[in-house]
Amino acid sequence: MSVITPELLTRFDVSGPRYTSYPTADRFVEAFAEADYVQALAQRQSGVVGKKTPLSLYVHIPFCESLCYYCACNKIITKHKERASEYLRYLSKELELHTRHLGRGQSVSQLHLGGGTPTFMSDDELRQLMSVLHQHFEFVPGGEYSVEVDPRTVDEGRLAVLAELGFNRLSFGVQDFDPAVQKAVHRIQPVGQVFQLVDAARRLGFESINVDLIYGLPLQTPESFDRTLAQVNSLRPDRIALYAYAHLPERFKPQRRIHAQELPSGGDKVAMLSRSLDALTDAGYVYIGMDHFALPQDALAVAKRQGRLHRNFQGYSTQADCDLIALGVSSIGRVGASYSQNAKTMEEYCDLLDQGHFPVVRGLTLTRDDLIRRSVIMALMCQGHLEFEAINLAWLIDFQAVFSKELAQLESMQSQGLVQLSDSGIQVTPMGWFFVRGVAMVFDRYLQADRNHTRFSKII
Ligand code: SF4
Repeated sequence: MSVITPELLTRFDVSGPRYTSYPTADRFVEAFAEADYVQALAQRQSGVVGKKTPLSLYVHIPFCESLCYYCACNKIITKHKERASEYLRYLSKELELHTRHLGRGQSVSQLHLGGGTPTFMSDDELRQLMSVLHQHFEFVPGGEYSVEVDPRTVDEGRLAVLAELGFNRLSFGVQDFDPAVQKAVHRIQPVGQVFQLVDAARRLGFESINVDLIYGLPLQTPESFDRTLAQVNSLRPDRIALYAYAHLPERFKPQRRIHAQELPSGGDKVAMLSRSLDALTDAGYVYIGMDHFALPQDALAVAKRQGRLHRNFQGYSTQADCDLIALGVSSIGRVGASYSQNAKTMEEYCDLLDQGHFPVVRGLTLTRDDLIRRSVIMALMCQGHLEFEAINLAWLIDFQAVFSKELAQLESMQSQGLVQLSDSGIQVTPMGWFFVRGVAMVFDRYLQADRNHTRFSKII
């Protein structure tokens, strides 16, 4: 039986950021423009900020053939397949611009193709994309090369192409296996099809297979979601990401097609989460943190045991922090002490590239305070532990003096059993690990200054 009861979930769940970055993307400003991005690239080149560690690449493929009603992603729904080849031309332009500043042949240890639907692209287009990436970068052996896969767009042959192109990790968007729920969210993908694909992916030698699930969707009940979890357990993916659906139809237009009266109650959502935690841990999955589970032998679970977890825009990772070059419409990158985001509309993205500019339209240059707080937040989110001395030595500060207010706030969390404070550091308790974003939020200067947290999702 889990220690995380529905009562605890109701008591401690807070809305807040997932901290895939700090400061979070809603703090980016338009004053950060191309010149700032170019400067960050130049600093990487000169080694002014940090060592020249291998790069991480993210490529956003925004197209999808059909609309899922729960969608909150930046995507373009189209049946016009030719749009992908035009987009490839713009990605090449964006790569050329980077090479002008970084030189050719920088090593890359992580690649993630996300969307939208990366497999909207044909096999030939994916081959072209990988070929152009290889012309610009040197992919190191043993890196993490992953791609998001919509089961409705691939077969075994297409998975074989992804393996041939060097991808070693797949992430399948499943969400729920119940046919009624699939119909209500306009995403029909039979169970048998997903089982066949995962089976094929294993035969093809993919190192890690992830399955995304969502609870809180229309027509889901705790009982129906139990059935989905049982099916997922027998599928045995290496990793599972379990997200809460946040119904925000004013913000995300597709969600207006969801009938609010079909959504599960708050109580049912709590029950689904609590039963999911039980079902997955009983089935041998390790809770990594913040919506993620992995089998004990998976690299993520090993990294968690060894205190080597990291966090980036894709969530938890085993790779040490590296500069992230983000390509494509709306992508967010991180270079040195800066974050940058590309234009969110295809028109603006293409227009800027046509004029020979980086399509960066907003971002942030981190202050020293941001950098210190980022290291504190990431230590809490990834290791669940923080030694004052480590931060003092890294940043030449007196942690207890600088963060006296934050430490005072943590005292009430200590009395609730979420953290343990000592003279030497902060330890997140096993129970606190399930609510770690609340602990991290204490150190978020922006949130503390503006206590309107409601724009962020809650786990429930
Ligand atoms: S959920 Fe994914 S596949 Fe569905 S419309 Fe959104 S981006 Fe496309």
